[in-house]
Amino acid sequence: MQFCEECGSMMVSEDGRMVCTSCGHSEARDEERAARFVSTEEQSDDDVIETEEGANFEGKPTSDDVTCDDCGHGVAWYTIKQTGAADEPPTRFFKCKDCHNRWREYN
Ligand SMILES: [Zn+2]
Ligand SMILES: [Zn+2]
Repeated sequence: MQFCEECGSMMVSEDGRMVCTSCGHSEARDEERAARFVSTEEQSDDDVIETEEGANFEGKPTSDDVTCDDCGHGVAWYTIKQTGAADEPPTRFFKCKDCHNRWREYN
């Protein structure tokens, strides 16, 4: 529930904005602002990589043809992401199932 900062009346959602039912004052919805902020973050290449590296790997497919640099364990979760230009090979991100060390591999 949101109230008009001009007159204190109840505001209703209209076309993605909050509009006052009494005086017509309107403002952007907080959720809309938050959603825009997130999508802006995702447009930065660096942020995409950091997000994927820190992503929750549980439930992802596993690969057993790898060796963890930290503990030598041979099974890791992985995700495959296109982080560079479209004609570049995708990057594989790994997370060791044993010690949870994370690394990336450029094919
Ligand atoms: Zn108002
Ligand atoms: Zn490990």
